[in-house]
This record gives sequence, structure tokens and C-alpha cells, in this order.
Amino acid sequence: MPLALYDTWSRTVRPFTPIRPGQVGMYCCGPTVYDHAHIGNLRTYLFEDVLRRTLIRNGYEVRHVVNITDVGHLTSDADEGEDKMEKGSRRTGESAWAIARHYTDAFVADWHALNLLEPSTWCRATDHIGEQIAFIGELEQAGYVYRTDDGLYFDTSKQDDYGYLARLDREGLQAGKRVSLGAKRNITDFALWKFSPPDVKRQMEWESPWGRGFPGWHIECSAMSAKYLGAWFDIHCGGEDHIAVHHSNEIAQTQAAHGTRLANFWMHGHFLTLDAQTKMSKSSGDFIRLQTLESRNVDPLAYRYLCLTAHYRSKLNFSWAALDAAQTALTRLRDHYLSWPEGGAIDNAFAARFDANVNEDLNLPRALAVVWELVKSDLPPATLKATLDSFDAVLGLGLRDWKPIVSDIPGDIEALLNERAQARTDKDWAKADRLRATLMTLGWKVEDGKEGQRATKIAMELA
Ligand code: AMP
Ligand code: ZN
Repeated sequence: MPLALYDTWSRTVRPFTPIRPGQVGMYCCGPTVYDHAHIGNLRTYLFEDVLRRTLIRNGYEVRHVVNITDVGHLTSDADEGEDKMEKGSRRTGESAWAIARHYTDAFVADWHALNLLEPSTWCRATDHIGEQIAFIGELEQAGYVYRTDDGLYFDTSKQDDYGYLARLDREGLQAGKRVSLGAKRNITDFALWKFSPPDVKRQMEWESPWGRGFPGWHIECSAMSAKYLGAWFDIHCGGEDHIAVHHSNEIAQTQAAHGTRLANFWMHGHFLTLDAQTKMSKSSGDFIRLQTLESRNVDPLAYRYLCLTAHYRSKLNFSWAALDAAQTALTRLRDHYLSWPEGGAIDNAFAARFDANVNEDLNLPRALAVVWELVKSDLPPATLKATLDSFDAVLGLGLRDWKPIVSDIPGDIEALLNERAQARTDKDWAKADRLRATLMTLGWKVEDGKEGQRATKIAMELA
């Protein structure tokens, strides 16, 4: 089954064909590094990682570019408010540069903890100011730029199909004027370059042909994607919130300067929510991040497993109960995998069913169902191992790298514990109780929990 992907531009699932044979260029909007990423942000990067792994499984060589927004993202997407970095600096008392470095490092650590494949290129907005200035120059030449007191703006009225990606109702927006226009000509116009206010010394600012200041948020992605992937590449990704403003503006800029709509496929991950309505927002200051899970003894890869249980184009409502269930399922999968011997061959019938689901617009929930059917099948254990191993290239659960935590339980105690586990499986409760008492006299206390029995040493109490 050939790969088909949902494209937000055409609003259809269509067959994927790369622009250059055998190669795929993929650009993913990265984090704004004024704070930690929350697990909602991470859901979007997980979806992009599964997409990349799927492309690789289909035989493509993938060039994957992820940007780091370390300047220019204002607190309001309507070009108002403060730069998030400078605001972060006021919050913590650290310099905007130190904050950017700190949260970039934290983000990369989260990236690795979730077993996301390393991008071919990480690119920082502040390392590409020259490229952004040159891009704005091209837009100016092409007649799309006007100047106000506070910056340079893109005139969206010059493009008939501005906002097509979002199916934007421009007239309705203009008439409604829910957002204040300021000196902008049209409600959808957006900043390309903002001047530093004359009375304020910004921490992040640069000279430009138009005056000292800093770039708008959208221009970084048009400029950096063109640099690393060209002006027409295969797939551009981000969260669903980017459709209406950020990606519409990236397209407008690239179309004006280079005559392309930037990417052949536009793909968007849907939000992680805390309850059915509330989105998880970084700016609210109260959010769950990967370390919050780790401090509750949840493996980051259990969160990865949880994300695989929902299709990327449906909302996923987060709950601790769902995360616990994901942890249990992952533990079971690891235990099975570990118990099987090496040396088998992949089962082609199962592999074909797994691939059919993955290639149908990344239907991972159905692919996971195939995984569990495989686990419960009566195929030889070595075949199970080889087949699951090959699936994990897409799932990214790191099954091969996982090692059980080595316990310091001595061999004879371990043997009694195993015997007791077997008695429990056989529902021989009297034997299980007898063995618990024996273990107690040997200085080991046994508790029964959801994940089986847990033994702790109580030698001190006995002494
Ligand atoms: P930011 O760091 O705010 O620029 O966002 C980084 C990425 O996370 C973007 O692709 C957003 O679209 C995405 N995102 C933001 N909030 C959520 C959420 N609650 N669920 C999933 N993705 C999100
Ligand atoms: Zn972007």
C-alpha cells in the first residue's frame, strides 16, 4: 500500500510523491524557547517523528529541518505585545540570550528522552538574521512591503489567495475588525521587521537597511526553510494552531518572493487537551512538562506510547489514568520483547498489515492493534521478536535499547518470588501466602500491586 498523507492545503488524503526521487525535504516549526516545552508541544514533535520514520520505512532519505525561535515571537499572534524572549527575561531576571540557551538545551534533552530522531539541521532564528533581512529586501523589491512607525509590514491585500490554507474569510475578518488595526492597512497584514522603540534598549536587536530592530516571527521560517530545503520542498509541519496565522503568512511571503506555496504537503498535528475544551498553553504558565511525568516515575516513552494510541488528526485528552494505562502497556510490550529469542525472520503477513495502517495517513492506533495481535499470535517467539523489532523502527519505543532495572535481589529469593508469581497465576492463593511467609522469615517483604509483586528487604526490622 503506497503512502498517502493528509494535506491541509487540499483538505484531502492524497498519495505522497516526492519532488525529487528518493528524497524528502521536511520542515517542522520548532519551539519558542522562553520556557519549557509542555507535553502538548511534545505531542506535535512526536507526530512529526512518526512521519519521518514512516518516510524512512518507505525507502526515502529524509532531510529534516527544525528551527528554534529565539527572537521575534510576540505575545499576541496579531503582532502586538512584547517579544516572548524579553518577557521571559523580565520573569526570570536572566538575559534573553541566557534564557534562549537554557530552554534550547532543555528542549533538546526532552527531544532525546522521547527517542525522537535527531534532525538533519537545527537552526536558530538569531543565527539567520542576514538571511531574513535579505528575504525582506526581496519582498520590498516585489512591492509587498509598507512601513509604519513601528516596523515593516506585509501587505496581504496584494495577494488574491492570501489565507487559502486556512480557508480564511478575509472580508468577514476585515468587516468584524475584532483585532485592533493600529497602523496596519489590513487586519491580516503582519510584521516583517519591528523597530526597536527609540526609548528602549532591547537585548536582542540588529541593524538593518530600514533601522535597528528585530525580525517578525514568520519571516524566520520562510528564510531558513529556503536556505536548507529550497523554496519548494515536500512537507511542512506544525501544530494545528499554526494554520490560520503563522503558516498562512509563511506561504504569503514565499509566494511573493519565490512564486511557490513553499511546501507540497502541509501537515498539522492536533492538540493535546487537558479536558475536552481546554487547550494546554505555555503562556498560561501552568502546564505539564516531561519532567513532571518523570517526577511521578512515568517513563517519557510511556508518554510516547500514549500519543501513538490517538490519530494525529484527532484531539487527545490527557489524563493520568490514560498515562498509567500506557505505562502498563509499554511495560508488557517490553517484557514480551525481552523474553523472545533473536534470530527469527519477519512475518510478512503481519508486516503488510502494519504498513497498510501506517501508510494510510499514519493510522498508528490501528497499527498498534496489529502489534498486539502479533504479540498474542502463536507465531514462533523468534519471529515475533524480528517482526516487532521492524515495527519499532516506526513506533520509536526503543525496545531494543531497553534494559530492565537490575535488582539486587539474590538468586534464591528471586527463585522463591518466581515460584510465588506462578502460584498467583495458577490462583493457588494458599501456596502464594505460604511463600510470602517464607520470604518474610528470610527478611523480604512482598507486596502485590497492579504490576505484579514487589519485594523489599526488611532485615533491619527483623534484627
Ligand atoms: P511554541 O513553542 O509555542 O512555538 O509551539 C511549538 C509547537 O507546539 C508548535 O508546532 C505548536 O503548534 C505546537 N503546540 C502548541 N500547543 C500545543 C498543544 N496543546 N498540543 C499539541 N501541539 C501544540
Ligand atoms: Zn514556522
